[in-house]
Amino acid sequence: MALIESGETVRAVSLRIGVSVRTLREWYEHPGRGRQNLPSACPRCAGIPSLPEPTSEYAYLLGLYLGDGCISRNGDPAKGIWVLRIACADAWPGLLAECKQAVRAIRPDNKVGRVRSDGCSYVTSYSRHWPCLIPQHGPGEKHHRTIELEPWQRLITSRHPDRFARGLFHSDGCRFTNRVRRPLADGDHWYEYPRYMLTNESADILGLCGAALDQLGVSWRYSRRNTISVARREAVARLDEFVGPKY
Ligand SMILES: [Zn+2]
Repeated sequence: MALIESGETVRAVSLRIGVSVRTLREWYEHPGRGRQNLPSACPRCAGIPSLPEPTSEYAYLLGLYLGDGCISRNGDPAKGIWVLRIACADAWPGLLAECKQAVRAIRPDNKVGRVRSDGCSYVTSYSRHWPCLIPQHGPGEKHHRTIELEPWQRLITSRHPDRFARGLFHSDGCRFTNRVRRPLADGDHWYEYPRYMLTNESADILGLCGAALDQLGVSWRYSRRNTISVARREAVARLDEFVGPKY
């Protein structure tokens, strides 16, 4: 408020402190009311930290981030603004919408953007709080650093292993159909076997996925060093309950 009083534009203050223009206007026009209703307050750097809500959306978003997300500084480091970017293939508009919805649910006061690139789009969100909300951020690629969840994050992923797995498979995974030919006396028969695969270069991230699948009772194995495979019929049927084909 002091910055606005001093003559800075609301937009400039918004960029500087990472609170949306709408919220700043609200605070300016209704001083006092904002105190009870701080939409951009961060559950992690509050005096008494709490879990980001809704936790089911957080679990999904964390899965997406570990698959295809990055968090980096935006502009002048002194401003303390960070940007979360999650890559979404243009081939799956449903996933893009679901990703935006999850980002909006966790930071309802920050605008969710979309930046188009070659064959994909980046869902973007600017906030001071992405590093507190997703402390796994860091320079370089995820498989070059240790990816370990904080205790409060483990609480969330163990509460919503289905949502966490959905996020992981929606970013780094796929569901595909194997067609197998069986020559029989009356001619060739074709059988179709749906499968799931998740490929990631980070052994830590694969381990987190495996733990979620274990908790869900989905049998899985490493088909390659960097790939988790779910192929048993009942395991695929179980994953279909909360992942399913991309859309
Ligand atoms: Zn924070």
